[in-house]
Amino acid sequence: MIQRRSQRSPFRVSFEFFPPKTPKMEEGLWDSIQRLAPLSPDFVSVTYGAGGSTRERTHHTVKRILSETPLKPAAHLTCVDASRDEVDAVVRQYRETGVRHFVALRGDGQAGAGGAYEAHPNGYRNAVDLTAGIKAIDPEIEISVSAYPEKHPESPDFATDIDLLKRKVDNGATRAITQFFFDNDVFERYVERVRRAGIYVPIVPGIVPIHDFTKISRFSAATGASIPLWLAERFEGLENDPQTHSHVAAAVCAEQVLDLVERGIGDFHFYTMNRADLVYSICHILGLRPSAGGDDRTDRIEQAA
Ligand code: FAD
Repeated sequence: MIQRRSQRSPFRVSFEFFPPKTPKMEEGLWDSIQRLAPLSPDFVSVTYGAGGSTRERTHHTVKRILSETPLKPAAHLTCVDASRDEVDAVVRQYRETGVRHFVALRGDGQAGAGGAYEAHPNGYRNAVDLTAGIKAIDPEIEISVSAYPEKHPESPDFATDIDLLKRKVDNGATRAITQFFFDNDVFERYVERVRRAGIYVPIVPGIVPIHDFTKISRFSAATGASIPLWLAERFEGLENDPQTHSHVAAAVCAEQVLDLVERGIGDFHFYTMNRADLVYSICHILGLRPSAGGDDRTDRIEQAA
């Protein structure tokens, strides 16, 4: 019998993957899934490219996870460049495949995060509407949504941002996964604000292991996630020293997660970047071990890969 949760660890984890572009990347993804699956994540999610550009690849990856592993996949879905009918058709298609969980997002316009977003004239305007649309198709479907501890770059203020989160929850979302962040005080203050606004769903911290500090810094600027000075100092001078970079990254991520544990956090969502190494180590530190059914599970995935 495969257990969904480690006997030893009280923590729950989920892993996010992106749909691979090439056969080599697909192989890398499946190696990672094979490594991480025995840790019995609560669910694994698969992102959806801007403008639905990965629609087929996301679907393929979700379908493969569903048919070849015991993992529970959550499909990310955005409103970008698609009418309601088109988005609804994608939801129905997933449902027929057996998908019961969506990460409902507005998405970004052509200019990317922070750029001006224009809703499709016949489309869902944002994640609030999309959440309602998915629930109208199937009220039983589980919906996770985004949350922004440092507020979304387009939000004028926290009140607007949190009001939007409240409307997503009012429409049926039962979990919010945060944009990545590095300052746990920022996260804690955000959760306090969210609770004061009467939002009681789990706010799951999105944790990003830093495989490449330069890339993460660039990406942070676009997403509104700040890079504290102390973090930049930790990676200073490591551009051409991958081994030390990787050790520092493991230490930084472990520190962040263990500090969140101290603050009472029990659920973690890992942005894996399709790589298992760092995430596996952090989960090990959290006490997660391959479950009793892990061998069976690995065998099944190996056979399928
Ligand atoms: P929403 O929650 O709908 O809105 C975001 C912000 O827009 C609000 O905070 C608000 O400031 C503003 N806004 C929206 N509607 C209104 C309104 N009516 N009035 C006033 N302000 C409004 N992107 C992808 O393309 N594919 C993915 O798979 C993906 N996965 C993600 C997973 C997570 C956990 C997170 C945190 C983000 C993800 N993103 C993904 C990025 C996301 O698409 C962008 O951050 C995007 O800019 C906002 O999408 P959202 O669902 O957060 O938007």
